[in-house]
Amino acid sequence: MDEFGLINKIQRLENVNHSSTKVGIGDDAAVFTPTSGKDIVTCVDTLTEGVHFTRETMKPSDIGYKALAVNISDIAAMGAIPVYYLVTIAVPKDWTDDEILAIYEGMQQLASNENVQLIGGDSVTSKEGLYLSVTVIGEVDCGRARLRSHAEVGDVVFVTGDLGGSAAGLHQLLEGENVEEHWKAAHQKPAMHTALAYEISRLPWRIALNDISDGLASESWEIAESSHVQIELIEEEIPLSAGLVEHFGQQKAIEMALTGGEDFQLLGTVARDNWQPLQTIAKEIGERVTKIGTVIHKGEGVVMTSHDQTTLLSRDGYKHG
Ligand code: ADP
Ligand code: MG
Repeated sequence: MDEFGLINKIQRLENVNHSSTKVGIGDDAAVFTPTSGKDIVTCVDTLTEGVHFTRETMKPSDIGYKALAVNISDIAAMGAIPVYYLVTIAVPKDWTDDEILAIYEGMQQLASNENVQLIGGDSVTSKEGLYLSVTVIGEVDCGRARLRSHAEVGDVVFVTGDLGGSAAGLHQLLEGENVEEHWKAAHQKPAMHTALAYEISRLPWRIALNDISDGLASESWEIAESSHVQIELIEEEIPLSAGLVEHFGQQKAIEMALTGGEDFQLLGTVARDNWQPLQTIAKEIGERVTKIGTVIHKGEGVVMTSHDQTTLLSRDGYKHG
């Protein structure tokens, strides 16, 4: 597809239209008016064919959905709200026009749900493999971004939803097994937690947040390192995707939660006194948050306790007995 043909077709897809947008797609650059009193929060993430997805496990609309989702999840993990996005796509010869448009339809479906407006992008050709890079721009009240460095000793460590479903879905898709619907969805169309991020953004409390893209072990490490604290996770408290233990066994199930990644749940820490109110707030919007551990002392790193046995947990999920 020629570039103009593509841009024309993209423009005909349903798009969110914020009143703060002065110039969207169609000029040399986009123009918008930032909301006063807000900090701008922005991130970019790229998916490449053969590395982050294959056409065997993801259909074009899922690839689009996921490319935007990973970024919306990063914005939510700052306690911020996504507002705009831009897309760079490098298209190789073996992708059809309809497939490229389906990628945009997948993105636009999520964008409509999340009220995020497409305001520009770039389209180029690729010699080999599709490349899809999405930039999201969001907002948060000035000074209110929820950083990984916000954890303090005594905090409750919590996670939204459950873990391991995405890894299970990918495993079954790759093995050509009968794929459980809820695992397939977890892998191809992970749910976003922007509603909780919004609720959190309004709270006056200190909260550390991260999202689970690489796995619980490495994301916990990121919070521990940034906050100069040690985190203890309780293995039995980690909420595992329904059926995971029955299907894969306890050890593999925990491994999938720790290292599988791509669950895009939010991982956070909050002062003990605020834990109960946070649970109530989450429940009101239909989110489940589970306490999975505690920030135990100053220092660094993550330990995991199971049946009163505590072991060091490495970044890649390996337990050091
Ligand atoms: P320029 O040559 O000035 O960079 P382009 O022809 O690349 O202009 O882009 C024209 C308009 O279309 C711009 O608003 C740009 O942001 C938008 N655009 C180009 N490619 C894409 C894309 N893949 N997705 C969304 N918008 C795009
Ligand atoms: Mg351009």
